[in-house]
Amino acid sequence: MRLTRTMPPPLAKPAPTNSTRTESPYMKRPYNFSAGPATMPEAVLQQAAAEMLDWHGSGMGVMEMSHRGKEFISIYEQTEADLRELLAVPANFRILFMQGGALAENAIIPLNLARGGAADFVVTGSWGQKSYQEAGKFCNARLAASTQGNGFTTLPDPASWQLGADSAYVHICSNETIHGVEFHQLPDLKALGCNAPLVVDFSSNVASRPVDWSRVGLAFGGAQKNLGPAGLTLVIVRDDLLGHAVPQCPSAFDYKLVAEAGSMYNTPPTYAIYMAGLVFQWLKAQGGVAAIEAANIAKAQSFYDYLDGSQLYENRVAKDCRSRMNIPFFLRDESRNDAFLAGAKAAGLLQLKGHKSVGGMRASLYNAMPIEGVQALVAYMQEFERTQA
Ligand code: PMP
Repeated sequence: MRLTRTMPPPLAKPAPTNSTRTESPYMKRPYNFSAGPATMPEAVLQQAAAEMLDWHGSGMGVMEMSHRGKEFISIYEQTEADLRELLAVPANFRILFMQGGALAENAIIPLNLARGGAADFVVTGSWGQKSYQEAGKFCNARLAASTQGNGFTTLPDPASWQLGADSAYVHICSNETIHGVEFHQLPDLKALGCNAPLVVDFSSNVASRPVDWSRVGLAFGGAQKNLGPAGLTLVIVRDDLLGHAVPQCPSAFDYKLVAEAGSMYNTPPTYAIYMAGLVFQWLKAQGGVAAIEAANIAKAQSFYDYLDGSQLYENRVAKDCRSRMNIPFFLRDESRNDAFLAGAKAAGLLQLKGHKSVGGMRASLYNAMPIEGVQALVAYMQEFERTQA
C-alpha cells in the first residue's frame, strides 16, 4: 500500500497580482524588463508550479530529489541533450553545469586555462572590465583593446587588438548587459594570426542566437537572463582545454574533474537545472534558437526604430553593435526620469531603471519577453512623450 500524506495549508495566501496581462490562463502579470534575474516564460513557471509537489508521479518535488537518483538523472540528461541540440554544441565540447555565477568564472577560467601564463582581454563594458581585473589575480592579464574612452558605445576593430603570441586565451564579453553593446559576429582569432582559444562571456545573450563554435574555445554565463533562475552557471568548453588546471585550483572548479563527474563532482544546483530544462523545452516549442533569434531581431528593431525616431529618448550605442538583449536609453530631459519610471510601473512595465553606473533607463528584451511587452512599452513611451510636449 502506498503511504500518502495530507497536505498542510500553504504558508501564506498568495498576494494579489498587479493585473495587466491577459495571455496567461490563470495569472495576469505586468511585463518585466529586468536585466537579470529576468522574466521567465510563463508556460515554464506554470509547469514548475504544477510539478512543485509531485514531479511526474514520483511523489517528490524536484528540489527534494537526490541528484544521484534516477529521477533527477533523467531530468539532467534531458536538459543537457536539449541544450546541446538547441545550441548545436559539437561533440568535442563538454557542457558543465556549475555554480558561482559568471563572476566566479572570471577566476576559475584563468585557474584552468592560463597555466600561470598570460591572457588577453578585450574590454567593451563593465563585465569585460571585471573579468580583466579578476583574472589579473591568477594570471598575467593584458588589455588587448578597450572602448572605455568612448563610454563603451562601440566595438574595437579586431584587427587593432593587441594579442600576444604567448596568450593562453583571449577573453571577450559577447553582450555587455549594462552598456548594451553586442558582438554580432564572434571574432575569428585564427584569421588574426592568433592560435589562442577564444573565451566568451555570453551570460546575457546565450540562447538568443546561434553560436559559431568553430571560433570558440570556451563560453560561459550565469543562467539568470535567458536560461532560468540564478544559481546555475553554464560552461561549454572544448575537450582539449580540460586537464590544465593549476594545482591550487579548487577541485570543485577544476573543469576536468567536473566534466568527468558529469557535473556531479559535488551537488549541482538541481532545481535551477530542472528549470533551465523547462526553458529549453519551451525554446524548442518556439522553433529553436533560429526562430527565437528572428523574434529577438524583430523586438529589438521595433524598439530601436522607435527610440531613433523620438524627440524625447535616445540610445547612444553605435548602430552596428547595438544589443538585441539590453537596450539602455535616456530621456533627453533627465529631470523626468522618476516620473517616467513611476508611470511605467503604474502601466505594468517593471524594472526599467538603468544600471546605476550608466543612469537613464534600460529595457532588457530577453527570449522570454513577448513582442506584446515591447509594444506595450512603446505605447507607454509614446504617451509619455506626447504628454511632455
Ligand atoms: N557577465 C555578464 C555579461 C553579466 O551580465 C553578469 C550579470 N549581470 C555577470 C557577468 C555577472 O554574473 P553573476 O552575477 O552571475 O556572477
